[in-house]
Amino acid sequence: GTKTPSSDSKEYRLKPEEELRLEVAEGKSDSVKLELAQGMAEIFGTELVCGNSYSFGPGSKLAVFTWHGCTLSIKGTPEMAYVARDTPMIIYLNTHAGVETLRKRAEKAEKRGPVVMLAGPVDVGKSTVTRILLNYATRMGRSPLYVDLDVGQSGFGIPGTIGASLVEQPASPDGEFANKAPLLYHYGSSNMGANPKFFKELCRVMADAVQKRLDASKKVKYSGALINTAGWVKDEGYSCLLFAVTTFNVDLIIVLDQERLYNELVRDVPPSVHVVYQPKSAGVVERSKRTRFASRMSRLRNYFYGNFESTYFPHTFDVKFSDLRIFKIGAPVVPKSCLPIGMTNEDAEMKLVQVAPSKELLNHMLSLSHATVDDEKTISTNIRGFIYVTNVDVERQTVTILSPQPRPLPDGVLLWSDVRFIDAN
Ligand code: ADP
Repeated sequence: GTKTPSSDSKEYRLKPEEELRLEVAEGKSDSVKLELAQGMAEIFGTELVCGNSYSFGPGSKLAVFTWHGCTLSIKGTPEMAYVARDTPMIIYLNTHAGVETLRKRAEKAEKRGPVVMLAGPVDVGKSTVTRILLNYATRMGRSPLYVDLDVGQSGFGIPGTIGASLVEQPASPDGEFANKAPLLYHYGSSNMGANPKFFKELCRVMADAVQKRLDASKKVKYSGALINTAGWVKDEGYSCLLFAVTTFNVDLIIVLDQERLYNELVRDVPPSVHVVYQPKSAGVVERSKRTRFASRMSRLRNYFYGNFESTYFPHTFDVKFSDLRIFKIGAPVVPKSCLPIGMTNEDAEMKLVQVAPSKELLNHMLSLSHATVDDEKTISTNIRGFIYVTNVDVERQTVTILSPQPRPLPDGVLLWSDVRFIDAN
């Protein structure tokens, strides 16, 4: 039942294994404050501290789950708030227990721990289940690697990239892991279909890096890795998924919600890979194209400006056209008859093409590569950060950029992204 202790806060009493689902409206709405008044509760595996107040900004969608019962108090006006009895949390907890058994076995045999992949169509809770499993792992003292292959809604905040990071502590209640230095690779589009061949190449590079990271410490090695994937599971998207399964030597695939994908994977993956089917939570909120776009923009905004917990002050400065070395990956596909002898379109997809500065750079994100020269290794070199073009002055031959670091721009190749940041600040 609910009661109202004061005019602006509302209390919810949850019985064991229930969750309070909350949605905060998008746009300029006020944030909602949540407090655990009594008992124990968690948000997607992150435990709440009794008496602390947690804020959730516009667009937040979450569930506060309790294993043993609790009392929650909400301040502000959520767009939606209801208590659900039916959740798949016990299934996810059992999955965690199963993965933990594999880690113990790995530890005994001094072998690599489990590499677990989440797969399924969009909006089934893949990112959420990845987060739950990562959080539960850290609560057992494990340090798994978190790999995000979703270029559209990357867990690392920057659309158009794939990333990996060591997770040693549970995420904050709003879902951020403390990734001080995630390993990021530039893909250059939030649409995975833009260049599947290049995507596969990046998977290969990332898989190598992950293997090295697993080999570098026993703790990480036994903990293994959790890989989140994009929701494009048809046609070329499916082919990319299969490629990732073999490249990362995945041991266990958890398929959420789609039996068809489950059956396809059972048919197509090597017999050593274990595939399980699990239901999605009814609480997972479907996101419209607009919502997805808004969530990409807010992630970019957080990259430059931070959020209400920690505010950053990015730098704005001009750079001469002549000081910019911008490249894009993939030459346009042309009819075979037009290609130079011996060259195929396949080569074109991985080609580094110089981009001359022009008005067209306006609002585009650029990745700053660790590569300082443009050669065949550039496309598979990780990136150190991002800038964004706020103005192009063709007459003065300069661009104005927004950068987390003060001038000068570090020496390095810039990689063009089709992701544009529409800054509402
Ligand atoms: P996917 O990765 O499959 O696209 P997500 O894990 O990102 O899906 O989930 C979509 C949205 O639904 C997210 O905003 C997430 O916070 C929300 N969500 C997931 N599970 C629940 C739940 N049980 N109750 C309320 N919201 C949820």
